[in-house]
Amino acid sequence: MKAEGIVKGVIAVGCLAQRYQRELGEQLPEVDAVLGITDYSGIPAVVRRIVNGSDKRFTATVDGGKPKSARSDVGRLLLTPKSYAYLRISEGCDHKCAFCAIPSMRGRNRSKPEDVLLEEARDLARHGVKEIVVVAEDSTAYGLDTHRERRIHSLLEQIADVEGIRWVRLMYAYPHTVSSELTAVLREHPNVVPYLDIPVQHISGPMLRAMKRGTESAQVRRILERLRQEVPGIAVRTTFIVGFPGETEADFAELRDFVAEYEFERMGVFPYSDEEGTAAFGAAGRVPPEVAEERRGELMELQREIVEQRNRSLLGQTLDVIVDGRDPEGDALVGRTFADAPEVDCVVRLAADAAPIGHVVPVRIDEVDGYDLKGSAAVVPGGGE
Ligand code: SF4
Repeated sequence: MKAEGIVKGVIAVGCLAQRYQRELGEQLPEVDAVLGITDYSGIPAVVRRIVNGSDKRFTATVDGGKPKSARSDVGRLLLTPKSYAYLRISEGCDHKCAFCAIPSMRGRNRSKPEDVLLEEARDLARHGVKEIVVVAEDSTAYGLDTHRERRIHSLLEQIADVEGIRWVRLMYAYPHTVSSELTAVLREHPNVVPYLDIPVQHISGPMLRAMKRGTESAQVRRILERLRQEVPGIAVRTTFIVGFPGETEADFAELRDFVAEYEFERMGVFPYSDEEGTAAFGAAGRVPPEVAEERRGELMELQREIVEQRNRSLLGQTLDVIVDGRDPEGDALVGRTFADAPEVDCVVRLAADAAPIGHVVPVRIDEVDGYDLKGSAAVVPGGGE
């Protein structure tokens, strides 16, 4: 596109660009700038220089390797459908999971100030956003660096009280740091959906220790049980890594039994990938990739049955659905229930023009389509909130 003059320049931005800045600069001469992460405020100046025809290539990180506290993103260009937007509440992570390169790239946890986040939330609401998806590396660590206490529960409440916001969804909670104040907000605030993404990664004790997760198997089981007890009807999403170095058949069998027993509403499974600069990089006890892939397939097959069964139990029910837009593979509309985060979970399909895009509308569930659902909007176009 650059060669054809359709775009004036190409900029690589993000974690990978920061980490392999020099290599990318060498291997991709057609890239005009290789920028890092954390503070995007320097990007406009770089873009201006490229657009103005400077022939100099930029291979500096934005904000280098020493992240400052994160800033407001008010006025940012939204790349998501108008129904929802992500709100990043902090940068970095204080954990040292053995498989993860993120802390070395993004640094320690730095929470954005509450007033800045609320300003962003109000700005998003003014632009018609109905759902705010709260993200961070570790969302439950919010406030620890600034106030020496976990403040995610009060932040969620304040975001949920912003006028115009219908749903607030919390992603990436760290297992043993889910407090009873947080479960109370998930249970009680009408605008905070009873949904929690809580990546537990594994359930076998030896694996959790090898992964340096800082949680024991019994602790993980306890918190997951607490979620069911303290937030009736909660949709719990998790992710697992299979094929971590040293994972035995017995470790995997324990995980499989756990998945069958707990019946997560939503789940993702990733085969282990060796990341440079992590504690597990090059560790002994490698699991062949095909075995990891097989294990992933086995868990996902199990999960498919769990989701389908749950979906069948929804037939005939009327659920609130947020309408995200048109299905790229047809002319139906696609939306989501409270149990579905954008991009990673299931969808509900509705007839084209059955409901206004960007609104939350009641939908009767008529059909199960594997992981997904089909339904009919119980309102005329123009209705909903
Ligand atoms: S996996 Fe998550 S919690 Fe663990 S170090 Fe990486 S970002 Fe932090």
